[in-house]
Amino acid sequence: MKNPAITLEDRYCAHNYQPLPVVLSSGQGIWLRDQDGKRYMDMMSAYSAVSFGHSHPALVAALTKQAGQLAVTSRAFYTDQLGPFLQLLCEMTGMPKALPMNSGAEAVETAIKAARKWGYKVKGIADQSAEIIVCRGNFAGRTTTIVGFSSEPQYRDGFGPFAGGFVSVPFGDADALEKAITPNTAAFLVEPIQGEAGIIVPPEGYLKKCREICDRHNVLLICDEVQTGLGRTGRLLASEHDGIKPDGLILGKALGGGLLAVSAFLAREDLMAVFAPGDHGSTFGGNPLAAAVGQAALRLLRDEKLADTAQRLGERMLAGLRAIQHPAIRAIRGRGLLIGMDLDPAVITAREFCERLMQQGILTKDTHDTVVRFAPPLIITADEIDAALTTIRHVFETLSTAVPLTEKSYA
Ligand SMILES: *Cc1c(COP(=O)(O)O)cnc(C)c1O
Repeated sequence: MKNPAITLEDRYCAHNYQPLPVVLSSGQGIWLRDQDGKRYMDMMSAYSAVSFGHSHPALVAALTKQAGQLAVTSRAFYTDQLGPFLQLLCEMTGMPKALPMNSGAEAVETAIKAARKWGYKVKGIADQSAEIIVCRGNFAGRTTTIVGFSSEPQYRDGFGPFAGGFVSVPFGDADALEKAITPNTAAFLVEPIQGEAGIIVPPEGYLKKCREICDRHNVLLICDEVQTGLGRTGRLLASEHDGIKPDGLILGKALGGGLLAVSAFLAREDLMAVFAPGDHGSTFGGNPLAAAVGQAALRLLRDEKLADTAQRLGERMLAGLRAIQHPAIRAIRGRGLLIGMDLDPAVITAREFCERLMQQGILTKDTHDTVVRFAPPLIITADEIDAALTTIRHVFETLSTAVPLTEKSYA
């Protein structure tokens, strides 16, 4: 008999996801529990939103305290929470100004609006002709404008017509970026590591070259660090690996401490200055509850040096995965605790692998059919990483018996 929670969700919820058949009811740190009390290690962190682990006491305290004090006012008024939150956010990221939103997609839309308006009012691009260059394989959310510049057919199919003004170039190819720039180019929007595309790490120095090219052509460099930011890749921002600073920065996911949807678009002064009162907004964006939790999340990230943990344990996990010898493994990619294991679907699909991991007490999600993602909360310990590696090795061992190596090599 099917679990009643699954039956209900399937009956009433739109089928825009295909969840693994586990019904979660509590979470603590890196651990999740299902209805029967079975424990699972979270190797997915809600697509990196839960970088601090589940129900972190400091974050729950900030949330409950602020919820009992003042939660939502709209930005029609000042609050005592927004200023301190954005001050900390700007100081930590080195960006002078921030515009708070809720979901990552909203912050990306904010970046697009800022870039276009900057293109017209500052750079002097002719009205209605601003172009934004994006990369193939990008993921920036699910609004119609954003899926309109996706290269993934399923994200687009049936949802057009789409907004114009976007030009795609291959990810990791700085020369292609330079060739695509025209006098109408306002911005280049890029993920330092493509997350949803399968944890694609660009060639060494790619962002640095992009920075130089954008400077040379007066084009804004906007980094979408919704997934890679806030310590995930071993630095506060993934763009720091290349020693560069973007003109615009998009953060989300972990910014809400895994408790709320909190995002922000950050920018240099003259870029953010294009927004005047009434140009843009959000009912919930920057609300005191979000600001209090966001501020607590940033403090935790800074005080607990979680980026350093991601760097150190990411190396341990990458080395451990690379040491596994199995014909199903095509590649192990990643940086910090954002890791992808690319599998040969002729041996096993990433989805099947995730189902087997689930049976062994690890939860994660495939991306793009062939890639298993490993992105645990950044509060994970070395022993827990080693335990996960043991389980992953065990799943491969059971595979070898189900699919004899000889059979595969002669297939
Ligand atoms: C998840 C993600 C987004 C969208 O965030 P939502 O909160 O789902 O709207 C944008 N950009 C990147 C790189 C992401 O990974």
